[in-house]
Amino acid sequence: NTFDECPFPDEIRDEVKRSGFAKPSPIQMYSWPLAVQGKEKCELKDSDIIGIATTGSGKTVAFLFPAFKYIMETNAKADNPTLLCLSPTRELAVQVENEAHKFGKHCGIVTVCVYGGVGNKRDQGRDLAKGCHCLVATPGRLNDFVEGKEVSLANVSKLVVDEADRMLEPGQDMGFEPQIRKAVKEVKDDGHPPGEVTQRQTLFFTATWNTNVQKIASDFVNRPYQVKI
Ligand code: AMP
Repeated sequence: NTFDECPFPDEIRDEVKRSGFAKPSPIQMYSWPLAVQGKEKCELKDSDIIGIATTGSGKTVAFLFPAFKYIMETNAKADNPTLLCLSPTRELAVQVENEAHKFGKHCGIVTVCVYGGVGNKRDQGRDLAKGCHCLVATPGRLNDFVEGKEVSLANVSKLVVDEADRMLEPGQDMGFEPQIRKAVKEVKDDGHPPGEVTQRQTLFFTATWNTNVQKIASDFVNRPYQVKI
C-alpha cells in the first residue's frame, strides 16, 4: 500500500517520490505484484495481465513500471524496442509518451512516439533510427514503419495494448482491429495456442469488458490475471 513496498528499482521509486504521488492507486497496487511475479506462475515469462480501468486510474504507470523494471534489470539496449505500447489515438499516445518520459528519463529509458495524422513521419523515422527501449505507437503508423523496415518488433518482450476497447470495438475507431492484429503479429510468440507458455508478456488494458473485448483479449493474452478496478 506504499511505494516503498513496490517491487521496483530505486531509480523508479525516486521518480515517484519526485512526482509527489502519495500512494499507489488501486490499479497499481493490484497489478504490479502480479505483473512482476512471473516465476511463480511459469518459469519463462512474467504473467499476462488484463487491467480493466479507466483513464485517471493511474493505469499508465501501472503498465509502464513493470516494463521499465524489466528493461533496467536486463540492461536492454536502446535499439529496436523492448517495450511496445499500442494506443488508439495520437492524444493518448502522447499522454503515454509523456508519462514514459517523465518517469523513465532518470532511469535511462529512451522513449519514442509515432502516430499518424499530423505526426511528421520523417521526424518520427529519424527518432526511431536513433533507437529506443520504449516505443509508443498508433497501429497504422507503426505498421508503415515496420513495412518500411524502419523498425523491427523482434525484440519486443513487453507488449501493452492500451484502451483496447476503443481500438477494437466496431463503430468506435473502425479499422483499428486489423491494424492492431497486424502489428501484434510482428511481435514474437504471437499465435501461440491457448495455454502454452510464451516469452512475451502482454499487458492488456481496457475500460470496458464486454464479450467483444473478451474475445479479442483471448487472442492476445495467455493465462492472464485479471485486475478490475
Ligand atoms: P492515467 O490513468 O494513467 O491516465 O493517469 C492519470 C493521472 O494520474 C496522470 O497524470 C498520472 O501521472 C497520475 N497518477 C498516476 N499514478 C498516480 C498515483 N499513484 N497518485 C497520484 N496520481 C497518479
